Amino acid sequence: MLHKMSQNNYHMKKESKSKYPWNWNQISANIIFGRAQNRCENCKLTNGSIIERMKNDKYRYISKLEVDEMYYDAKKESCSILKILKRRGYVKIILTCAHLNHDERDCSNENLKALCQRCHLNKDRSNNKLRAQINRLSPYQTKMEISTTA
Ligand SMILES: [Zn+2]
Repeated sequence: MLHKMSQNNYHMKKESKSKYPWNWNQISANIIFGRAQNRCENCKLTNGSIIERMKNDKYRYISKLEVDEMYYDAKKESCSILKILKRRGYVKIILTCAHLNHDERDCSNENLKALCQRCHLNKDRSNNKLRAQINRLSPYQTKMEISTTA
């Protein structure tokens, strides 16, 4: 009984910190992997792909061969693949689920959109809270994205 109570308290405490529903992971996965088919619903980039940003919003996908090369370099230098990506100026696309009206409690289909880092940031550049959230999720990639848009 005591155990159950403390568990409930834990959940209440957790919920009060965040406006996200308890099943947010499932909801966002349904949007990203289901409806969006693992592609940014704005620019159509594929989740997990590695790209190079170029002028005028153009980009190119990095070939499988080059990705293999980078993993090889990372292994050789005993460093993270992210370090190799940064050195080459590449970005790994990570989709997150955005709330279009910025209300995290509103998880209706119309309010949610699977977006890559750049589209998520572009959606509302003044929304610092959202920016912090994306930074927590993928600090490295987001910083890289910002530096390439500046
Ligand atoms: Zn995008």
